[in-house]
Order: sequence, then C-alpha cells, then structure tokens
Amino acid sequence: MSTATQGGPGLPQERRLVTEIPGPKSRELFARKQSAVPSGVGTTLPVFVTQAGGGVVVDADGNSLIDFGSGIAVTSVGNAAPRVVERVQKQVADFTHTCFMVTPYESYVAVCEKLNALTPGDHEKRTFLVNSGAEAVENAVKVARNATGRQAVVVFDHGYHGRTLLTMTLTAKNMPYKHRFGPFAPEVYRAPLAYPFRWPTGPENCADEAAAQAIDMINKQIGAENVAAVVIEPIAGEGGFIEPAPGFLPKILEFCKANGIVFIADEVQTGFARTGDLFACEHEGIVPDIIVTAKGIAGGLPLAAVTGRAELLDAVHGGGLGGTYGGNPLACEAALGVLETIEEEKLVERAGHIGDVMLSRLNSFKERFAIVGDVRGRGAMVAIELVQPGTKEPNAAATAEIARRCHAEGLLALTAGTYGNVLRFLPPLVISDELLEEGLSILENAIAGVA
Ligand SMILES: *Cc1c(COP(=O)(O)O)cnc(C)c1O
Repeated sequence: MSTATQGGPGLPQERRLVTEIPGPKSRELFARKQSAVPSGVGTTLPVFVTQAGGGVVVDADGNSLIDFGSGIAVTSVGNAAPRVVERVQKQVADFTHTCFMVTPYESYVAVCEKLNALTPGDHEKRTFLVNSGAEAVENAVKVARNATGRQAVVVFDHGYHGRTLLTMTLTAKNMPYKHRFGPFAPEVYRAPLAYPFRWPTGPENCADEAAAQAIDMINKQIGAENVAAVVIEPIAGEGGFIEPAPGFLPKILEFCKANGIVFIADEVQTGFARTGDLFACEHEGIVPDIIVTAKGIAGGLPLAAVTGRAELLDAVHGGGLGGTYGGNPLACEAALGVLETIEEEKLVERAGHIGDVMLSRLNSFKERFAIVGDVRGRGAMVAIELVQPGTKEPNAAATAEIARRCHAEGLLALTAGTYGNVLRFLPPLVISDELLEEGLSILENAIAGVA
C-alpha cells in the first residue's frame, strides 16, 4: 500500500476501514470539539479528516471513506486538486492579501473575465467577488434593488440561500435555519415551487399551475411594479434536489422580463459542471439577469461571485460594493485552477456520465424498495426521496437510518429536504467509476437493510 503523506488524487483510491466509524482518535477529537465549539455548529459524520483527494476522505484513525458529498458540492474538482494546489502554493509565497479595493491584482480580474465569458448569455457582463454564497446572494439583491429602485424580493418554497439575516429570510425552512433567529428582513415574499413529486394535481400540471400561482401571488399581493428581484435556485439544493417541472423556470423568467424584475439565479450549489452543464440554467436555456456562484468555484477556498448585466451592476455608485477579503488572491488563483481543471479533465461530460451511472442504479432501487418514493437530479447532483411505503408520507427516520448505515460502512452521504427525507449525492467529479459503483452498492445494502 502506498504511504501517501499528502492529499490530492495521489491518495490510494480505495475504501479502507481499519476501526469502527468514528474511530478512537476521531472520538477523542470530537470530545474536544464539543467543549470548544457550540453544538449549534452541527456534524454530519464525526470523523476528523487528515487528507482527502479524488473520491476519498481519510480520517485520523486511517480510515478511507468514499466521498459522496464533496464538502457540500465544493470540491467538485477533487480535494487538493493539483492545478489548485500549484497556483495557491505559488500565490501564498508571493503575497497573501492587499485588499482588491486598496491595490488590485490580476487574478481577481481574470476570474471575473472568465465568469463573464462562461455564464449564460452573450450580453455585456460584470462580475465582483465576495467570500460566501450568502454574501453573494445578499449583494445580488442589493444590486437589483439599487438598479430598479424597488424593494420586494420573491423567493420560492423549499429555497435555501444562506444563513445571514437577509438570506435566512430568503430561505424557506424554519428548522434549523430560522428558528428563534427572527425578526426577519422585510419585503421578502414566498411563491410556490413546481415540485413535481409533491404537486397536488400531478407532475403533468405542475409547471403551468405553479407558475400561474406564483405570478398571481406577485400581482395580487405585491404588485409586479414593486418587485426588485426574483431569486431562485435552478435546482433546489438543501430543499431536496428538486428540479422544477420543465417549463416553470422559463415562465417565471418571461414574467420577470415583461415586468422589469431582475431574475437572479442562485447557482451556488448547481454551478461549475455539477449538473452536467457548466451552469444548471443552461439546461432550459435560461439566461438570468444576475447569476450567483460560490461552492464549486474555488476547490474549497472561500470565494463567491455575482455576475450580471453590465447596466445593472454598473448602476451602483462607486464604493457601494466590496469587502475586505472579497476575491482574496489565494481564492482567485484556486478558482483559475478549478476552471482549468474542469476544462482539461472534461468534467462537464464527466458529471453527465456520473449522473447516468447513478440514476440507473437508483432507479433500480426505486423499483425494488417501496420506501424509495422518487429518484431525481441531473449530472452528479442526484437524490432519492424516502417515503412510507405505498404513500408519499415523508420518511425521515428511514433516511437518517440509511445515512447512519452508509457512514458505518465508509460511505459519506448527506441528507437534505424540507421534510428531512432526502438522501443527496454529490460525489467529486473526479471520483473513479469503481468507487462510484462501490458507494452505490453500500447504499443499496443500507436501503435493503432498512426497507
Ligand atoms: C450553500 C448555499 C448558499 C450559501 O452559501 P454559503 O457559502 O454557505 O454562504 C446559498 N445558496 C445555495 C443554493 C446554497 O446551496
């Protein structure tokens, strides 16, 4: 066995369990965490990581786990990806920070040029950089309000946009994101999302009816002329990987266009090759006015971006946008390394392939296990929704138990969903086919054991 001392793709690409999960060293570290860190900062799987790369995460006890989470859709190019490591190592030795608003540097501009060129639409664009998805969403709303002179913001059921005051207000789910954290930001309105699996009159009617209800709500309760922006995820992430019924997004976009409303696509989770397109909006040919990106953008370094129509972004007064660390030079170098990796390793196509492999196995589980109510997703962003057999009643208990069994067998899988009954899979796009299949077999056994 290789004795790799660093993470990255050179790590042995194998599942290896040498202790129970979590092992003694991780349990000791977790005890320290519990006395040093508030319990409000949760833990999905309390193994403490020492290295990661390709499709595996290695813990302090020497266990090697299959990674179906990518740190929540962040390390799509793999952990410690070579082009990211090389650029960041050079940058950290050259300079670590100047503040782009004080004395600028080229890599920030290069990232913005790339995003302007790569995001949907061939109109003139501008981009600026911040530190997190939530910060980017907030800034997109600021830009839209400034440009339109309007205040209202429309969001959707099952939406997730972050944890700051405005973005938790934009987020749909109370527990754990909003509970006892109010009062919330004003002028935020919520519309129905076209959720095919749970649409009362069936998936066929879902897109038309949901769009009609959303538009009716806007017209009756807010007045379209008062709406600055609609903020929507092209696939709802934390909400349970809900792909809006085809036709819903184009209808909402069309309504926005007709009424001078800024259409903001929150592609924080769906962006950067994850769904088998570089951006999920491309699937239905959606050209958003503003697109917000983060997570997969910089291989794990904190970076996020707001990209949009030049006339919207340039409307903001000098000094109105920015932040101390936004577009930190290490993060910008990492982002350039990520974009090179996506291109050179053809990760858009690779995500499509991962989706084909996963969806075909998951659909076979749906045929065999009555607790699997729905299988959905695109590319390397797929999920199963668990129900009480023979109904659509959410089955959060089975979901938690399947996740627990996967973890015990060395498969890192994440849950999601408004009802806590979705298992979501976000493998790094560089995971091997062997690990992908092995992970799916572990999942299959876990479902069979619970079903
Ligand atoms: C994760 C996420 C955010 C928030 O990003 P942070 O970097 O955690 O602030 C916003 N929107 C979506 C769709 C996300 O998945």
